[in-house]
Amino acid sequence: MKGAAWFAIVLVASTVQAQPGTTGAIDPPLSPRNASYSIAATLDPVSRTITGSETIRWRNLTTAPAAELQFHLYWNAWRNTQSTFMRERALGSTAAAENASRSANEWGRIDVSSVKLTAPWQADLTASQRFIAPDDDNQRDQTVLMVPLAQPIAPGTTATIEIAWTAHVPRTFARTGAIGNFFFIAQWFPKLGVLQDEGWNCHQFHAGTEFFSDYGTYDVALTVPTGWPVGATGVQRDRHDNGNNTTTHSYYQDDVHDFAWTTSPEYLERTARFEHPTLPPVEMRLLLQPEHADQAERHFDATRTTLKYYGEWYGAYPYGHITIIDPAYQSGAGGMEYPTLFTAGTRWLAPSRVTTPEGVTVHEAGHQFWYGIVGNNEFEDAWMDEGLNTFSTARAIAQVYDPNYLALRYFGGFIPWVFKDVVLRRETDGNRLAGYRRDARSDAQTTPSYRYFPSTGGSITYNKTALWLNTMERWLGWPTLQRIMSEHFAKWKYKHPKPRDFFDTASDGAGADLGWFFDQVYRSSNVFDYGVQDLKSVRDQDQFHTTVIVRRYGEAVFPVDVLVTFKNGERAIEHWDGQERWKLYAYDRGSQALSADVDPNRVLLLDVNLTNNSRTLAPQGPRAATKWSAKWMVWLQDCLLSWAALV
Ligand SMILES: [Zn+2]
Repeated sequence: MKGAAWFAIVLVASTVQAQPGTTGAIDPPLSPRNASYSIAATLDPVSRTITGSETIRWRNLTTAPAAELQFHLYWNAWRNTQSTFMRERALGSTAAAENASRSANEWGRIDVSSVKLTAPWQADLTASQRFIAPDDDNQRDQTVLMVPLAQPIAPGTTATIEIAWTAHVPRTFARTGAIGNFFFIAQWFPKLGVLQDEGWNCHQFHAGTEFFSDYGTYDVALTVPTGWPVGATGVQRDRHDNGNNTTTHSYYQDDVHDFAWTTSPEYLERTARFEHPTLPPVEMRLLLQPEHADQAERHFDATRTTLKYYGEWYGAYPYGHITIIDPAYQSGAGGMEYPTLFTAGTRWLAPSRVTTPEGVTVHEAGHQFWYGIVGNNEFEDAWMDEGLNTFSTARAIAQVYDPNYLALRYFGGFIPWVFKDVVLRRETDGNRLAGYRRDARSDAQTTPSYRYFPSTGGSITYNKTALWLNTMERWLGWPTLQRIMSEHFAKWKYKHPKPRDFFDTASDGAGADLGWFFDQVYRSSNVFDYGVQDLKSVRDQDQFHTTVIVRRYGEAVFPVDVLVTFKNGERAIEHWDGQERWKLYAYDRGSQALSADVDPNRVLLLDVNLTNNSRTLAPQGPRAATKWSAKWMVWLQDCLLSWAALV
C-alpha cells in the first residue's frame, strides 16, 4: 500500500476512538465486513449436541470470479484418528494414550445438513458438497468442505449462503469442548475460507496451527439452559426466557473475524473498567471459577496492563468491551484468544510476584491486537501474531510485574513454591530463550507454519520471533522499533498482512535496508554463536602484549562489540562486523588484560551459546560455566512449566 492511502486510513481510524462499547455496533466500519454471519444455535448439554443454522453474507473482494465456495469444518478434525490434525498430533509422544482414554462420546464432529445459495441467485447446493484436502490430499480428512457453483460469483458481488448443521461437542481438544457442565465453544460453525486473488485460502485443520478468516459482523443467538451464564464475542443485546427451561442470549459485534462462546452454571461474574487519559475506555467482564474468586482483581489488572501498554505502543483497542474467561479446572480451554474474548488460566493458590495468572492474561489479551485487529494468516505466518505478541507480552510484564520469580508446583500441581532467588528476566525467560535454543534448527520461518514439525514449531513461531524483535530493540532502540510496530499496526489493522509487509515497514522505519537481518532470522535456520576463543596477556619488557581472538562459531552473521578490560580499569571496545569466522585484536599496554567479552551488552539475544561469550585470565572460567548451566536448567524448566500451554 502506498503512503498516501495509509495516511487516509490513519485519519479515518482516529475519528472512531470514541465508540461506545455497549452495543457492539461500530460506525463507520473499521473493516471491509465482507464475511458476516447471523447464527442461531442451541446447546443440549446432556447429549452435548449443538444444532445450528447460519446466514453468511459474503462479498467477493478479489479481482477473480469465484467458481466455488470453501468452508472450514474444524470439528471434523476430531471425528477419528485419521484426520490430518490427529495424524499430525500422533507425531507427538502422548497422543495415542490420550486418544485411547476417550469414549466414543468424547470425540467431536460437525455434519452439514443443508447448503443453499439465496443470492445473487437461488440454488440448493446440498447434494454437490464434498470434502477436499488441499494441504496433504488426505482422503480421510473432512475439515474443508467445497461446494461448486453453477456459475461464478463475480468480483464485487455479494452472495448469501444459508447453512444448517449439527455438531457434537468433544471432551476438549485444542481448547475447545466440554468437561462436566463447562462448555467452551470455538471454531464451531461452518466458516468460509478467505478468497484471495490466487484462489481460496482454506487450509485443513492442523495440529500445530490456528486460523484465518475475513472480517465482518457477527449476530449470534445462543440457546442454553436457563440460569447458565454465557460469555461470548461481542455484546449481549437481548436475553429472553423461552419457557422450556432454556434461555436465548443474543450477541452482536461489528468488525471481527471470529466468534467464540462459553457457558457453565458455575461461573461467577465480575465487571470492571479500563480508563486512560488518551485511550478509549473499555468495559471488562470476567467470568471466573468460584475457587478463584479472590483473583478477580489480578485478572482485571493484567488486562488493564495490556490495554494500556499495547494501546500506547501500537494503537487503541476499538471495541469498548472485553470478556475474560477463567476456564474450569482441567478443562484444557485456558490460554486462547478470540475477538473481544479470551481464556486466561490460573490455579488455586496463585502467589503474588509470580506471573500466573498475569502472564497468560497479558498474552491472551494481547492477541486482541496481534491476531484480532491485525489479522495475519495463522496457518502460514503464525509468527506474525504469536511472535509479535510473545515479544509484547514480555515487554508489558517487565513494565509492571518486575521482579517476578520462578515458581514450581508440587503435590500433583496443587501447592506452589516460589523461588525468591530466581528472578525471571524479560530477555531470557520472557522471550523463551531455552526453547528456541533447543529447537533453533528445526525449521526456517519461511516454512508455512502448518508444515513446521508439530512439537517444535512453537519455538520457531513464538520464541525465535520474540528474540529477534527484542534483538532489534536492543540494536536499533525502542523508539525505532516502537515506530515500526505501530506503523505496521496502523497499516494492517482489519487486514491480512504478509511477512514482506512487516519487513518493508521495518526497513522504512529503521531508515536502512534490514533485508540482511531478515534473510538470517526469517529465511534461514542458521544460528548465531559468537565467542571468545582465546585471551592472552603476557609481559613484554615494560608492557603487556595482549591478544584476543573472537570467533563466529555459528553460520549466522551479526555485528557485535568486543570489550577488553584491563587490570588497571582501562577498557577497549571494538565494533566487529562479525562477518569473518574469526578476528584478532592486539594491544600493547602498561596493564595486563583481565577479561574479554563478545557482545557485552547482550544485544544479540539469539546467541545460542552464552558460555563462550567471555573469558577471564583469573581462574574463574569453570565456575562461570557451572553458574550458566545451572541457570539454563532453571530457564528450561520454567519455559516448560510456565509457557508450554500458551497459544
Ligand atoms: Zn499466543
